[in-house]
Amino acid sequence: MSSVLLVEDEEALRVFLGDSLRTEGYAVEYASDGPEGLEKALRLPVDLVVLDVMLPGKSGFEVCQAIRRAGKSLPILMLTARNQIQDTVTGLKIGADDYVTKPFDMAELKARIGALLRRALDGGAVPAAVYEFGSIRVNLRGTEVTRNGKVVDLSAREFQLLQFLIEHRGETLSRDTLLREVWGYGAKIYTRTVDVRIASLRQQLEDDPKDPRYILTVQGFGYKFRPEDQRP
Ligand code: CA
Repeated sequence: MSSVLLVEDEEALRVFLGDSLRTEGYAVEYASDGPEGLEKALRLPVDLVVLDVMLPGKSGFEVCQAIRRAGKSLPILMLTARNQIQDTVTGLKIGADDYVTKPFDMAELKARIGALLRRALDGGAVPAAVYEFGSIRVNLRGTEVTRNGKVVDLSAREFQLLQFLIEHRGETLSRDTLLREVWGYGAKIYTRTVDVRIASLRQQLEDDPKDPRYILTVQGFGYKFRPEDQRP
């Protein structure tokens, strides 16, 4: 039986999550603040940590970092707030393995937990998620992008946009979709924002930004990331 440490300060959510996980057959340990979460993650033989970002005492980021500094490689799944893209990027950078944004779907959370535990059982370390196109190499977990081996200095938002494009490669994505999913904007505002960021990504990643090979414009609609396997 796998055991999960649940670090969440909202009691109702903690109880609900814990009950749901126990129903799935997991043993569940609880912590309601950062210091308690860290202490239990280091002391108890748990297989996975579900870690909220906003916690009293110590933030989820600090707890995650401290767990990694202590040399523990167990999978960590962060619960991040919606619209806080920076949280996601920060979380993955400091050693979290995956994240789910609140409010989340319980089925999705269970699926992510199951996948992380399976990967951990299979090979110990979780493999780096790397995506390559042309001379560009994107380390999705380490949030690092290199071009011909040199680090490309993308902003957090640009990285998130690139990640979203890669994850939805081959799909035509409207500006509204990108604003909603990457920026977290609900209404039709700041449409130029997307274009400006796309132009910046092209500038940094395309050989000829005026004639892009990867980040394509779909006239009158939006953008599309062209997968490698569709290259002529
Ligand atoms: Ca919280």
